[in-house]
Amino acid sequence: MQQLKAAGKVKHIGFSFHDKAALLDEILSKHPEMEYVQLQLNYLDWNDTTIEAGKCYEVAARHHKPVIVMEPLKGGSLARVPAEAQKLYQDYAPERSVASWGIRFAASPDNVLMVLSGMSNQEQINDNLSFMQDFQPLNDEERQLIEKAVSIIRGAIAIPCTACRYCVDDCPKKIAIPDYFAVYNNLQQFGPEQGLVAQTYYGNLTQSHGKASDCIKCGQCENHCPQHLPIRRYLKDVATALE
Ligand code: SF4
Ligand code: SF4
Repeated sequence: MQQLKAAGKVKHIGFSFHDKAALLDEILSKHPEMEYVQLQLNYLDWNDTTIEAGKCYEVAARHHKPVIVMEPLKGGSLARVPAEAQKLYQDYAPERSVASWGIRFAASPDNVLMVLSGMSNQEQINDNLSFMQDFQPLNDEERQLIEKAVSIIRGAIAIPCTACRYCVDDCPKKIAIPDYFAVYNNLQQFGPEQGLVAQTYYGNLTQSHGKASDCIKCGQCENHCPQHLPIRRYLKDVATALE
């Protein structure tokens, strides 16, 4: 790629990334020649313990690499939020679309260069243009509304794991329990549109951890879980959905 750039055939080189912030830090430290990073960044994944969108953004900013955003609406899922969250948005600004909240969130951080929003009809193009032509970053009140919407959306999750990670240290199979639960919750919440992304994250995690199906049902993890989750049963669901 550097040769193509030197030959004038490409102007800028960068890469798309789906993994943890620590790995992104390592890559950018070893490859300062990279000029940008493309990240999955949206308000639901910002604090997600598997996707680490916020942490990845911070790493890119620290390395002075502009961010190109993919999945600002999480595969379209954030254009269809639960009714309670939709009401929050509409009460604040009835004329704005639900999707506009997600795209403005993704476009607001200073280090974001571009937001890639998949559009499938003229109406969606018009909607995006209506707030991107004269772009206003989110204000504090809007950020608080989004935080409330995130709580509502997360309230409907399949496995109520808080990602405390008390369960992981004693697992003889080194299974990434809370990470698998986060991937599974995403898949359950947002359906087939998230299938490929979920498989990618799950595949990455199983490179260095036991798979959900490697569980030998010793029960060590459940002894440590403050939420008293039936971890072994949930891991069976994860294996069925993702392996
Ligand atoms: S029950 Fe399964 S997940 Fe839990 S500690 Fe044992 S092997 Fe690990
Ligand atoms: S101990 Fe329970 S709540 Fe904490 S990370 Fe493990 S499964 Fe989730």
